[in-house]
Amino acid sequence: MSKYLITGGAGFIGSNLSRSLLNKGHKVIVIDDLSTGFLENIKDFEADKNFKFYLDSVMNFEILDKIIPQIDAIFHLAAAVGVEYVINNPLKSIEINVKGTENVLQLANKYKKKVLITSTSEIYGKNEKDSLSEEDDRVLGTTTINRWSYSNTKALDEFLGLAYFNVKKLPLVIVRLFNTTGPGQVGDYGMVVPRFIKQALLNKTITVYGDGKQTRCFTHIDDVIIALIEVMGNKKCEGQIFNIGNPQEVSINDLAKKIIKITNSSSKIINIPYENVMGQNFEDMKRRVPNIEKINSFIGWSPKFDLKKIIDDILIYLKNGE
Ligand code: UDP
Repeated sequence: MSKYLITGGAGFIGSNLSRSLLNKGHKVIVIDDLSTGFLENIKDFEADKNFKFYLDSVMNFEILDKIIPQIDAIFHLAAAVGVEYVINNPLKSIEINVKGTENVLQLANKYKKKVLITSTSEIYGKNEKDSLSEEDDRVLGTTTINRWSYSNTKALDEFLGLAYFNVKKLPLVIVRLFNTTGPGQVGDYGMVVPRFIKQALLNKTITVYGDGKQTRCFTHIDDVIIALIEVMGNKKCEGQIFNIGNPQEVSINDLAKKIIKITNSSSKIINIPYENVMGQNFEDMKRRVPNIEKINSFIGWSPKFDLKKIIDDILIYLKNGE
């Protein structure tokens, strides 16, 4: 039995991770300022004696300084999430991603606690390779486009983490998540899958941004949670960066069509120019496909669930009244 701190533990990924760790008999402390997380996400286990929730921010150094001595390891998930959120909250996003991670790493090092840093496939920027490996180049646009600040703040988190590992010998691992989705995710900050499903169920117009030919690879939350726990638990993974994603590639147009078909919806698809929703200074990635050979060779992980299963599971969840 271990005791974990999950920063951002009331978010979509953090709350699923909390549940999974509690089910395995571990203790969990969550710190979340509910900027993009929800109390609703943790209500099932809020009363569990092995669970403790702090409504606070990773910007609060003092509170972290009190919590971190009590735990064994940290899953650092707290961050600005969602392209739309980042674009609408540029300053806050930079502060939380840079200062928040600095605080966590500084204190993890002070008390020598292992850290897993969640990074993102946004790191790769506009690199359109068939299959993105951890060592591949980052291809980014200019600084007047807010989206790239997100990529850079997370890259800085990675640099910081690697520096702590190399200079201070802090046990640490970094993961880059590729479009994690599944039951319980909300469509408020982008997050196209739950958003399209909601639109389809209400027979409302499906809002495809741009020409819809851009592709993404969606990963089931259950696959991601397994990977996070196994990577954290494996000493061999320390000092490494791993992609976590499902290489199954789908265009956003095809995603919309698939969701309409599965839900038997009468929704029509419309294409909305990016500038109507994201403003003038916006660039999207045309594609982003993970190469997952590295994580597979280290811990034998590969995703079990495809896009159909993701959509089915979200529908079951919604049918059961969320
Ligand atoms: N998208 C869309 N309609 C929406 C929300 C998103 O067409 O209502 C597109 C978005 O422009 C992107 C893709 O779906 O090309 C995935 O968007 P999401 O925000 O889920 O994640 P991203 O990959 O951009 O981080």
